[in-house]
Amino acid sequence: MIKILTVGTLSENTILVIDENSKEVAVVDPGAEGEKILERLEGLKPVYILATHGHLDHTGQVGFLKKHFPDVPFLMNEKDLFLLNNDIFPGFGQLIGAYPCPEPDGFLKEGDTVNFGGFQLQVLETPGHTPGSVCLYDREKGFVITGDTLFKGSIGRTDLPGGNPVEMERSLARLVSLPDETDVIPGHGEPTTIGFEKKTNPYITGKYRADLW
Ligand SMILES: [Zn+2]
Repeated sequence: MIKILTVGTLSENTILVIDENSKEVAVVDPGAEGEKILERLEGLKPVYILATHGHLDHTGQVGFLKKHFPDVPFLMNEKDLFLLNNDIFPGFGQLIGAYPCPEPDGFLKEGDTVNFGGFQLQVLETPGHTPGSVCLYDREKGFVITGDTLFKGSIGRTDLPGGNPVEMERSLARLVSLPDETDVIPGHGEPTTIGFEKKTNPYITGKYRADLW
């Protein structure tokens, strides 16, 4: 079961990937409102804290959760280490109530699979929004968690530090090669599917592609 908690002033999606049998849960992108996330974890057994990328609105509550669950590993891609605790805009961390983010306990890289309960989250490196952006794809369950790479009708910006429009285009091409019926759980906004985005997302159909540059 996937639960989406929309948190904070930037309406970031914190995603709980829950195995209903074992009650194991992976918390993806705990960005804001730590208490609210904690409440939703009641009765569940956190096994991973994962970040799709290093931006504060996706990692702001990792420190808070680690205080409550010190033994649960926090994993992200190594190329985004420079973004941890990096305000980018002065006062950004304070605005969203970010906690100091600890060093990751390990790294997510291409080819890795995060296994727990009945889930197998395959790590796809999808740079573009940030150099260390990853998507988490469960082929069998038919969903992909896309962070700020792909949104419903839009994509993540490529003009922030480490952003790269050429890499973004390549990453999007990779995502649209997934089966059409794959559910897309994005880092902001509503869920969608690969097939719907292929048909309607102007950054994929080519309509706004020039804006990438
Ligand atoms: Zn971001």
